[in-house]
Amino acid sequence: MSALTELYKDIAVCRRCELYKTATHPVPGEGPENSEIMFIGEGPGYNEDQQGRPFVGAAGKFLDQLFASISMKREQVYIANVVKHRPPNNREPLPSEIAACSFWLDRQIELIDPKIIITLGRYSMARYFPNKSISKIHGTADRRDGRIYFAMYHPAAALHQANLRYEIEQDVLKLPALLAELKQVPKKEEKPQQLSMF
Ligand code: URA
Repeated sequence: MSALTELYKDIAVCRRCELYKTATHPVPGEGPENSEIMFIGEGPGYNEDQQGRPFVGAAGKFLDQLFASISMKREQVYIANVVKHRPPNNREPLPSEIAACSFWLDRQIELIDPKIIITLGRYSMARYFPNKSISKIHGTADRRDGRIYFAMYHPAAALHQANLRYEIEQDVLKLPALLAELKQVPKKEEKPQQLSMF
């Protein structure tokens, strides 16, 4: 069993916060274990909770359109959320729930080791761009520790505000250039061995 599958089993029985009590299914995330590209949303909604899969509702359909606009396929990328169980009635996750669940997200990132992390919305943005405002930094990339962090609005925001839809559509168009840049950065295990004189 792969380390990621093991992790999913552990997430399924997680009791680190109370969200499991009202959720139908855990939504650990999905995508290839060796994906170079990782999107991080907020938390499962109704449809995700029913199916145990991330971004399968209306926001997910829009996310699929965004992928298509840059000839990317959902199957190529890893999609995770800040919290793995649905907050009741789609309320926002509490700081304590985010803190409890970051244990899983940290482990997921460690295992997948993506070259680029794209944050969708305020909650995942706050992990990498603390105290920043999404209206100011969306569509911008930060390069740190051999990885690129790129902040985007949450796709659900576009469903309610047409002007944000335009911003998200424009921001996603910046990804191909960043992905091309990543081709220069070897993944950790592919890094050339240091030649030793001894
Ligand atoms: N919104 C999210 O943040 N994540 C999902 O998986 C679905 C909707």
